[in-house]
Amino acid sequence: MSSEVDGNALGGDLAEIFAVDLTGAAVTCGGCKTVSAVAALLVWGPAPGLVARCPECEDVVLRLVRAPGQAWLDLRGAVSVRIPLPAPE
Ligand SMILES: [Zn+2]
Repeated sequence: MSSEVDGNALGGDLAEIFAVDLTGAAVTCGGCKTVSAVAALLVWGPAPGLVARCPECEDVVLRLVRAPGQAWLDLRGAVSVRIPLPAPE
């Protein structure tokens, strides 16, 4: 049985996920469904932010804008992001 809780329930998992180097994560392009490593994306920037495009179809996969004390990560162009995590101890 599932129940609805607020976003604080995501805190532990998200802290773990975003504490890893994401350049090895596998992004699935929303346009052509090609799976690419983040490191293989085509990136324009830095101002006003970084825009990463699919190396196959050049659709925008993600946008990242930094400001003092905060960051905006827009993943609308990605179907999914598969993030490698350290093996449990
Ligand atoms: Zn693509």
